[in-house]
Amino acid sequence: MATTDPILAPVKGADHREVGGVQLDIARAGAARVKRVIYRPGFRWSTHLKEMVGTHLCMHAHVGFLVRGQIHIQYADGCTLEFAAPQAVSIEPGHDGWVVGDEPAVLIEVDFEGETARRFGMPESHRHPGSAPRE
Ligand SMILES: [Zn+2]
Repeated sequence: MATTDPILAPVKGADHREVGGVQLDIARAGAARVKRVIYRPGFRWSTHLKEMVGTHLCMHAHVGFLVRGQIHIQYADGCTLEFAAPQAVSIEPGHDGWVVGDEPAVLIEVDFEGETARRFGMPESHRHPGSAPRE
């Protein structure tokens, strides 16, 4: 990993964490947080984080910008999303997701911790307007 590459280099002033092999650099911004998240090749939420988190699917909303790599998102109802950098990202709670290809996926993300979906006007979990939530 080239540390001179600003997309991967240490982030000044951020709180660095590693969870399930995911590298997080987190900075506060008012009621929100700005994060750089690096998902390594081969990462899959249901394989590497599900047991630790304890939910069937990832129940976080993800809003931000993919600056490198590709990710695949799968919702419980079978809907899928494909993102490839450079691309804005908006993912509703209630999904599995994984890195596609051989390079890390790097996401610049803004969250409001437990209130992210509500603050961004997203549903509590993925659904289609006018339809009842699925089990
Ligand atoms: Zn759907």
